[in-house]
Amino acid sequence: MALSETDERIAHVRTAFAALYSGEPVLWAQAPGRVDLMGSHTDYNEGYVLTMPIDRTTWIAARPRDDRQVAVHSLNIEGGETFSLDGDIQRSTAVPWTDYVRGVAKVLQDEGYALRGFDGLVHSTVPFGSGLSSSAALEVATATLFNELSGLGLDPVRLAVLCQRAENTFVGVNCGILDQYTSAAGRAGHVLLLDCRHLAHTVAPIHPDIRIVICDTRYKRALTGSEYPQRRAQCEAGAATLAPRYPGVRTLRDVTLEQLDAAREALDETVYRRSRFIVQENQRVLDLAAALPEKGAAALAALTAESFAGARDLYEIVVPQMEAMLTAIHGAPGVLGARQAGAGFGGCLVAFVERDCVGDFGAHVCAAYREATGIESAVYAVEAAPGAGLLAVE
Ligand code: ADP
Ligand code: MG
Repeated sequence: MALSETDERIAHVRTAFAALYSGEPVLWAQAPGRVDLMGSHTDYNEGYVLTMPIDRTTWIAARPRDDRQVAVHSLNIEGGETFSLDGDIQRSTAVPWTDYVRGVAKVLQDEGYALRGFDGLVHSTVPFGSGLSSSAALEVATATLFNELSGLGLDPVRLAVLCQRAENTFVGVNCGILDQYTSAAGRAGHVLLLDCRHLAHTVAPIHPDIRIVICDTRYKRALTGSEYPQRRAQCEAGAATLAPRYPGVRTLRDVTLEQLDAAREALDETVYRRSRFIVQENQRVLDLAAALPEKGAAALAALTAESFAGARDLYEIVVPQMEAMLTAIHGAPGVLGARQAGAGFGGCLVAFVERDCVGDFGAHVCAAYREATGIESAVYAVEAAPGAGLLAVE
């Protein structure tokens, strides 16, 4: 069944490629979306995240060109464009989504890599703007393609860092490393315990009884809004106040709860609450990483509940649709725990569900959330997918 879905997808892309460019793609790059199981906003504090690449992926089917041009179209969004690898690559005014591709090309060239152009067709099963990181999947798929076509020899971590730089400096979204790292370095069947300071990770299996289920509120957040940079600035302000008091503190990753509380009167009230969430969330990542392979049900329930409560009361990234989704989840059969995924302000929740209950769980959540909000949600189980690479297409 999974095989035939993949075959259908390949046939669909192949047909569209032929209509656009004539002929066949010769190379297929893929990069997964991701879901964070624990660790909201910890990445830009150089902390930890428990993260999982998912079997929702972005593909680019491509054929190399010899004229230093890159042509890209997408089956998910209107419009396509051709740009030159010669000269300074600019942002697109007409087809803004190509900036993710342009940005990766620019960053790679600025690093001195010689790139070969291509005709490319993008197709993705990662929903846009839901917190599963379709933008990183597109960047990482693009970099994977350049890596192969141009023989760059980039390892996954370097590739992720350059993709993050493309999103930061070219697209203009000041995201942390989480999304690109997970997409580039993931391993099938495993979650990653990512250390965002040292750009290193360990992998752990999920207990076989547990399934990870995405519960999409279908309420779109806007990450380029002011909330995200504001949270970052508040975290930096917290670290800046604490650093002179405690040797060795550079970011909130280095701060203990005791240190934070001892310095409370020196911190602005909002900065204190933001910092408290990050310090606690960071510890929850480590605790969940220990609980997940064993199916530590009590720990799972407590950690996810604390994470959501902190996101709501301390970090203030929860909107009413997310509350309604959590209530729907908690009324459903087989739930072990659930929390926000991604940056918050809508998007998805991630639920840990008893494997045997996934069908009933989904039906209940959809109905209860619809009843509460009038919104048709999307609820689906995901598997831990491999990180980015080439697809073997016959
Ligand atoms: P998220 O990364 O959480 O999905 P973002 O707002 O960061 O949300 O990125 C979504 C944007 O990435 C889309 O609006 C689009 O511009 C671009 N994008 C992602 N996937 C594709 C795709 N398959 N085709 C074209 N553009 C895409
Ligand atoms: Mg994104």
